[in-house]
Amino acid sequence: MTTGKINVQTENIFPIIKKFLYSDHEIFLRELVSNAVDATRKLKTLASIGEFKGELGDTRIRISIDKDKKTLTISDRGIGMTKEEVEKYINQVAFSGAKEFVEMYQDKAQGIIGNFGLGFYSSFMVSRQVEIHTRSYKPDTTPVIWQCEGSPDYTLLEGNRTERGTDIILHIAEDSEEFLDEFRIKNILTKYCKFLPVEIAFGKRKEKTTDENGNENEIEVDDVINNPEPAWTKAPASLKEEDYKSFYNELYPFAEEPLFHIHLNVDYPFNLTGILYFPRLKNNIEVQKNKIQLYSNQVFVTDQVEGVVPEFLMLLHGVIDSPDIPLNVSRSYLQSDANVKKISAHITKKVADKLEEMFKKDREDFQKKWDDIQVFIHYGMLTDEKFLERAQKFALLKNTAEKYFTLDEYTEKIKPLQTDKNNRTVYLYASSIDAHHTYIQNAKERGYDVLLLEGPLVSHLITRLEQKLENASFVRVDADTIDKLIQKEDALPSKLNEKEQESIKPVFEDCVDKTKYTVVFESMSEKDVPVMVTQTEFMRRMKEQQAMGGGGGFYGMFPEMYNLVINSNHPLTSKILNETDNDRKKQMGRQVVDLALLQQGLLKGEELSAFLKRSVEMIEKMG
Ligand code: ADP
Repeated sequence: MTTGKINVQTENIFPIIKKFLYSDHEIFLRELVSNAVDATRKLKTLASIGEFKGELGDTRIRISIDKDKKTLTISDRGIGMTKEEVEKYINQVAFSGAKEFVEMYQDKAQGIIGNFGLGFYSSFMVSRQVEIHTRSYKPDTTPVIWQCEGSPDYTLLEGNRTERGTDIILHIAEDSEEFLDEFRIKNILTKYCKFLPVEIAFGKRKEKTTDENGNENEIEVDDVINNPEPAWTKAPASLKEEDYKSFYNELYPFAEEPLFHIHLNVDYPFNLTGILYFPRLKNNIEVQKNKIQLYSNQVFVTDQVEGVVPEFLMLLHGVIDSPDIPLNVSRSYLQSDANVKKISAHITKKVADKLEEMFKKDREDFQKKWDDIQVFIHYGMLTDEKFLERAQKFALLKNTAEKYFTLDEYTEKIKPLQTDKNNRTVYLYASSIDAHHTYIQNAKERGYDVLLLEGPLVSHLITRLEQKLENASFVRVDADTIDKLIQKEDALPSKLNEKEQESIKPVFEDCVDKTKYTVVFESMSEKDVPVMVTQTEFMRRMKEQQAMGGGGGFYGMFPEMYNLVINSNHPLTSKILNETDNDRKKQMGRQVVDLALLQQGLLKGEELSAFLKRSVEMIEKMG
């Protein structure tokens, strides 16, 4: 038996290991199981190159709890360690790793959130004593037992193990007895080890079997908690659509089927595999985030991928696996890491490639998916300059006739008619076919086309497109009268002169709240409505952007403001002007104003009731 000191200068390393990062104590299990997996894979590699000639046999890793002895054991049938190796790897290598880690973090332990690998010594976060019972795969070696009570002193003695491999036995500390609970351990294993590449068993489950006589028996078998060959580790060509779907189910058991996926497979200039899924986005961006899971060599690291993938890609679901993402550091460090930046740019490129490919290959099908993915694409176009460039090839605009166009196609289509006298191309849009029906009709009568732009990001997006395109502006059809929205040289003359307009202005002003509505006169067509309500594009867009958060700022605080537009060429306007009976004049004014309000959904409550009553009386008089 030998005893020794791990390192005399750092007497205090264990209390620190034990103390820091309380909430993340559970990662000790991830670390120990990962070590067991490494040891098993190393043996398999040795076997494949002929250095290990024995039987591989059962290589399953087993985790077990002994409630009476208060121990948690992680057993593997990997390469094991000789006495010299224990001294080297556990007393020196592993220890120096732990020491370095503590030195890095002891002052700011509060600030770090998971994502680190402390290695073997993290077991002391939850144990009062740790034992290693190990035997190397090499022939003619003596098994060893290493024991340590969380002080720098350790004991190394000869063991009696006959089988190759390693048992790590944790004598769980009193304050960590939660780790003797099956349920808790199972949860941790499912979280971190679900896709580790070697079978991991925890506990037993019952299985039905039929013997040669056809009798059904129930036998107890290992409960294997992981899938050692998850879809993302396989070659895309070997997978069918169904395989991708069932893997999605494995990741998110209760989620709705995704729209499509991208299989990532890169080995230069960095290593990255993964599958990203496009979920159906329900106009609700916030709840969808934090679904992507980050793995390093199949070990779960985190599902908080901020800084690792561009923000808009966080709306996707799935898995990214890369050993090149540094895991032993805090998240703020991740965001400035050069590797992470490259990875992030690469994923963006792949996503754009996929979307472009889908668009080119089957445009019809892409159009069918468009409504479900547009929020995602809009988000990308707004937050990622490179993606915005790429998206111009496949981002679609849908018009009110439900036809889809790329931006270029659409510009081409509307340019001849919808260019105003200042040479500006005007993109007309509506937010809803029903709510903007009359305005859309007005535009169509002029031969104009109207887009249907929906979704929470539209207002930001069109602002961005206006900056990008030359001489272009987007205006919602209710932002002004149609001839003001697209101004041509030959404006209609007004039938009312200025004096006449001034004289009837009060009639209309009395019908509305003057702090909200401004009465203006326009010489529109006789066939247009007599009165209409509009809201300037600028003000409305600012308010929308404010409501979405970000942008709009100052303007968002303004009250709702509208224009009450009087068509000075409509016969009714002249009739109101010429009416000599003051009561009738007022009544006619009120009725046309109310119709305009009604059309924009602004006539409500008491005013609406009064309007209905008045209309009924008018019909009665007709009789
Ligand atoms: P890391 O795994 O990052 O190298 P650890 O502190 O977890 O650091 O482990 C240190 C070393 O101890 C490992 O590199 C390995 O050589 C050895 N080791 C740990 N666990 C086992 C095991 N179950 N079987 C064989 N060797 C092991």
